[in-house]
Amino acid sequence: MSDISALLGQIPSIVHGFGTKEALLPVSLQPYRETLPEKKQVHGLRIVDVVAPRQACGEADGFYTETPGILLTVFTADCLPVIFSRRDGKAVAAVHAGWRGLRHGILEQMAARINQQGSTQDWVAAIGPAAGACCYQVSQELVDEFQQGLELPAELISPSPRHLDLPAIAHAKLLQAGFAAVDFAGSCTICTPDPRVTQSTLHPESALHRETKGHKYTSFRRNSLKRLQDPSLPGIKGRNQQSGIIILPD
Ligand SMILES: [Zn+2]
Repeated sequence: MSDISALLGQIPSIVHGFGTKEALLPVSLQPYRETLPEKKQVHGLRIVDVVAPRQACGEADGFYTETPGILLTVFTADCLPVIFSRRDGKAVAAVHAGWRGLRHGILEQMAARINQQGSTQDWVAAIGPAAGACCYQVSQELVDEFQQGLELPAELISPSPRHLDLPAIAHAKLLQAGFAAVDFAGSCTICTPDPRVTQSTLHPESALHRETKGHKYTSFRRNSLKRLQDPSLPGIKGRNQQSGIIILPD
């Protein structure tokens, strides 16, 4: 099962979902796969208006559309997927935000795009599964950069030494940007166990099996740490979660 947002689930005429290892692209979104824009995520700030199926978007980390029948998604594996919808379901958006995007303002860029024709007060947002404050250890320099650069409480940014709380930072930024409501879907990509797997069913017969079994999500960080100990383990290429949203076609 993919994760869903209670807030977005109330909106008519849209379908959304946050991918997991079981369904990298949520099952509910798979019928619309052929409409996906072409894109390359680069931890940047560029947001593209999508007006046609399979649109070539180039390098971009945010996508906005008012056109029914075009699936917008972002790939993540520890970064934040943030999905947006106007409350009437007539416009939707998706953002990929890692620490760079959060620090440098991609959520504010999306708010600015929305405010060109409307108001974030008419929109809601949902933050999907990402590296949690429980696991996201970083350098003290990066914590300092966030605490000095953002107008947010120091303990919200870093609730324990050398850890960042990316979901909490995104939540606070979205409320500052005027969104009517913001919720969370899913949990920490690094430590959440796979609800389908019990320890007794784990058999380490292959490197891929050893890497992928036992957790709910693909995690870049977890994979990287394991590969330091066992270089034979595969990377996460092709195994990122996709999270997305579509205005249903008429
Ligand atoms: Zn965790």
